[in-house]
Amino acid sequence: MDRKTYYVGWDKLSLELKAEVVVVGGGAIGLIAAKTLVENSLETILVEEHEEIGVPEHCAGLFNIVNFKRLELPISEKYIENTVRGAVFHSPTGRKIKLDAGRRVAIVASRRSLDSFLAGEFERKGGNLILGDRVVDATIIDKVVRVKTRRGLEVKAEMLVDAEGMTSILLRRILNKTTERGMWIPIIQLWVKDHSLDPQYVYLFFEEYLPEFFAYLIPINDEVGKLGVASKNNLRIKLNKFIKDRFPGVKIIRSVSHAVYTGRPLKLDLNSKIIPVGDAAGHVKASTGGGVIMGGLIARSICRIIASKLTGACTDINNDKEVVKSLTKELDRIANVMKILRSLPVLFIDRLFEIIDKSGLVEEFPEKLDMDFQYTSILRFLINPNKIARLLLASLT
Ligand SMILES: Cc1cc2nc3c(=O)[nH]c(=O)nc-3n(C[C@H](O)[C@H](O)[C@H](O)COP(=O)(O)OP(=O)(O)OC[C@H]3O[C@@H](n4cnc5c(N)ncnc54)[C@H](O)[C@@H]3O)c2cc1C
Repeated sequence: MDRKTYYVGWDKLSLELKAEVVVVGGGAIGLIAAKTLVENSLETILVEEHEEIGVPEHCAGLFNIVNFKRLELPISEKYIENTVRGAVFHSPTGRKIKLDAGRRVAIVASRRSLDSFLAGEFERKGGNLILGDRVVDATIIDKVVRVKTRRGLEVKAEMLVDAEGMTSILLRRILNKTTERGMWIPIIQLWVKDHSLDPQYVYLFFEEYLPEFFAYLIPINDEVGKLGVASKNNLRIKLNKFIKDRFPGVKIIRSVSHAVYTGRPLKLDLNSKIIPVGDAAGHVKASTGGGVIMGGLIARSICRIIASKLTGACTDINNDKEVVKSLTKELDRIANVMKILRSLPVLFIDRLFEIIDKSGLVEEFPEKLDMDFQYTSILRFLINPNKIARLLLASLT
């Protein structure tokens, strides 16, 4: 297949294309999936409805460095805006806990630049990118996936990777599958100036009036940062209150509205011709709404499994199946714990801050905490009689 990129404005109506795999959606996970497919010698077409990759930029771009490298992506100044060494947690009544790893542990990236880098890599490796067109239908006839777009394009492929993100309209229609719709929380992220915080840390705020999700300020430098507030109701009013209370001096540069997922991942059928990945599959940490690392790692393994099926190129399919299973289980467990935590009264969260603070575990914790494998790393850290005793003692005093 000749390598072609169709940008918005192309007018070849009723054009037919063939590929081994078609990827729907050119967000971070669709791009990571598409890149993995071409790296494994599969003819791949990616269709993205927006005219430009990475826009709108609905992400804070905070990624753990170790796990980002597991995606086999370079730590590059093309998209890195800042690096941070820890987090400062604010409780509803003003208590503060600082986790400091003592070294740079996470990057703050521009998603617009990262996605654009990923798209460039995909094209450079022979992938076909179609921008400014929307997939409106997909059917399976005689074991062939037939995709139709709004502009009249038809793509025939052996497999479809669905990376539609939050809306997952296609997925609902063709597989009758969807993430837990009630677990999407609307969010507004602002780029603000003059936050006056130390840019070596990220800042999380648990507020009584924001029971579903914490608010955050992620610095890009000592002046500019990304500020996010999420809520299912009165979001604008709550955002204004948060700014008035916590950051009265900031100037707003720009804003984006989207939603973060706080539910469970979908159960996947890896034998299906249509496989969802990323936000469409709920491959997101229910605690933070972060989906790029876990979603990306799962998507990479799924794409290697697809490659193995279609070309026999990759042999270690069992390892990839194990990765998909274990990461999905980790996300499921995080979602279960978060369901319990979110059902507790805000006062309990405050008390939790107090207990953790008093136990002195905060100093030992950052080294062991993995931002992505939260359930496993916290459990491993706490399963120790001495630490449990310290927590119990702190809770009694
Ligand atoms: C405010 C905010 C802050 C966040 N911060 C972080 C963070 O710091 N770290 C982190 O890891 N995660 C973060 N996340 C989550 C992260 O942004 C998502 O997990 C990630 O974007 C998921 O990527 P995706 O490719 O699955 O979906 P998306 O990025 O949503 O991309 C889906 C793409 O598919 C396109 N599309 C949909 N349907 C079709 C169709 N039928 N045809 C063609 N194109 C289609 C859409 O237009 C879109 O471009 C944040 C999310 C939000 C909202």
